[in-house]
Amino acid sequence: MTQVSERLAEVRGRIAAAAVPAGRDPAAITLVGVSKRQPLDRVREGLAAGLTDFGENFVQEGVERIQALGPGNARWHFIGQLQSNKTRDVARWFDWVHSIDRLKIARRLSEQRSWHAEPLEICIQVRLVDDPGRGGCPAEAVPELAAGVAELAGLRLRGLMAVPEAHADPSRQRAAFARVRHLAEGLKEAGFALDTLSMGMSGDLESAVAEGATILRIGTAVFGPRPAPR
Ligand SMILES: *Cc1c(COP(=O)(O)O)cnc(C)c1O
Repeated sequence: MTQVSERLAEVRGRIAAAAVPAGRDPAAITLVGVSKRQPLDRVREGLAAGLTDFGENFVQEGVERIQALGPGNARWHFIGQLQSNKTRDVARWFDWVHSIDRLKIARRLSEQRSWHAEPLEICIQVRLVDDPGRGGCPAEAVPELAAGVAELAGLRLRGLMAVPEAHADPSRQRAAFARVRHLAEGLKEAGFALDTLSMGMSGDLESAVAEGATILRIGTAVFGPRPAPR
């Protein structure tokens, strides 16, 4: 089976190949390895191969990995849907949360973040699909949520995150990412100091890089196919 280190080199090659025509520096793009449901050995392999950032969708699985690999050995990104009864563990163990879509969750995270820790780095998840079950804040409600998050002392608002619908046609994929970029540009004009666009996964990272993604969340292309859910 292909090793994580080989897959990682391949993904870094794809990022560089997409960055050059876009006039972007590949070193300014952070690769987050999304390790949900992957065996711990593959996650360890990723760390050994030089991955500095990991993304987790499930609180309990994520905390187990952080404890196994060491919180200080990588940056840990929570990217899944977050229920209010799970915020305490996220506030304690993670460095980033990409999936903020309501102020209630943001307030809890801010209150529960230790005063001794750095503020949690936050992205607001934008809902691009008309399906509330998929999570995310509707685009028109993002400015108000951003204003609320920006006031919270335990959080630092960094940017926007999105998971567009998969399209076989890369130009449609790119149009979805462009919407997120425009929304972020509008917020910056309104005075928010944003520096992050968390968008692009294994199948569409090229389109995301072309539209300015600064964080790519890559699962299967780095770690291989995910085992079926338990
Ligand atoms: C699973 C997941 C990813 C990674 O998806 P791949 O297609 O395996 O790269 C990225 N972002 C989110 C929010 C996910 O749930």
